[in-house]
Amino acid sequence: MYFTRRTILKITGVGFAFFAFLPKMVFAATNTIRTVRTGVQPGNKTRLVIETALRPNYSINYETNKIIITLSNTTANNYLNPSLAGGTLVKSITQVQSGNKLQIIADLLKPVNAIPKDQIMVLSPNGDNDYRLVLDFVAGQSVTNNAKTEKNENKNTSSKKYVIVIDAGHGGKDPGCIGRGGTKEKVVVLSVAKKLKTKLDSIGFQTYLTRSNDTYLKLGQRASIGEKKHADLFLSLHANANPSRAMKGFSIYTLSEKASDEEAQKLADAENAADKIEVDGFEQFSKDIRIALSSLQQHAVAEMSEEYAKGCAKHFKNMKITQQPGPDVRHAPFAVLRSTVPGALLELGHLSNSEEEKLLKSSSHQNKLVDAIVKSIKTYNFDV
Ligand SMILES: [Zn+2]
Repeated sequence: MYFTRRTILKITGVGFAFFAFLPKMVFAATNTIRTVRTGVQPGNKTRLVIETALRPNYSINYETNKIIITLSNTTANNYLNPSLAGGTLVKSITQVQSGNKLQIIADLLKPVNAIPKDQIMVLSPNGDNDYRLVLDFVAGQSVTNNAKTEKNENKNTSSKKYVIVIDAGHGGKDPGCIGRGGTKEKVVVLSVAKKLKTKLDSIGFQTYLTRSNDTYLKLGQRASIGEKKHADLFLSLHANANPSRAMKGFSIYTLSEKASDEEAQKLADAENAADKIEVDGFEQFSKDIRIALSSLQQHAVAEMSEEYAKGCAKHFKNMKITQQPGPDVRHAPFAVLRSTVPGALLELGHLSNSEEEKLLKSSSHQNKLVDAIVKSIKTYNFDV
């Protein structure tokens, strides 16, 4: 990469160095950094918040006493003045521009372990805030030199196998809906689930079925399989029935996050609480907000689910699979989706419609559905 200008600026007062290597080219739809701030969370966690104008695309690397967050298609903020709270692990923040990538380097007082995925959240704009990439971490063991070397040699090539849990709805004593021709939902969805597993395994995903035969499982059990397997994505497969036999088409759902219940209301509180991090010491927050903070992660999961579901709807439509009239993604409080794993519930079509009942039974249409789902998984950004 060729640089026309190179600026190094140090603001010593706040222990913050800023390096801007400004590229010659100007990239389209460029993201920018609004603010960077830190705060202390319960359990002596450090929270690092990077606020950006657009949804951030990021990767995270670790070096000894450093966390390096690389944001693609992002430019440095020359006026960035990080707000670093006392009592956190972050000593200073540095911006390094390299081409259209911006690295935010957090220099730490102590080493940390790689941050678990459920401690990394992207929040959508609300109130005065733009998009926020939120990282929570505690002091841990240093990332070894081996890990560091490996990272340098394998830049941008992730060897991580993404884990997908496929849930074939119903089963055993619960047939699900039954078509006029006698086709049972539990049979159709199990067949699609198995085909999907085979396909995903063949292209390098790690997949698990919640059930691989005609067994009855409670919804909570299904959801907990996603958590136990540390799934990156949970897909619950179903087929629909409608009193109107003319009704047909697929539909995609994510867990509702509207304030339709108490938990949903706490989410909104958590969203606000996340940005009070400049306040030193968590004790200053009320107990209610402290409880609500756990639902902040649920909010992050909801966002990832929404992202997946939108992409999924797109691929179904691209493959000319009939869509049920209405919005691309719907939301409802499905118990099976209540977990820390991003996911969606796919109604693959209507068994109550005789035309679709035939399709859903046919192997060729099941393969088409599987292809659409595989595409949606391959294009889903697992790291956001
Ligand atoms: Zn169902």
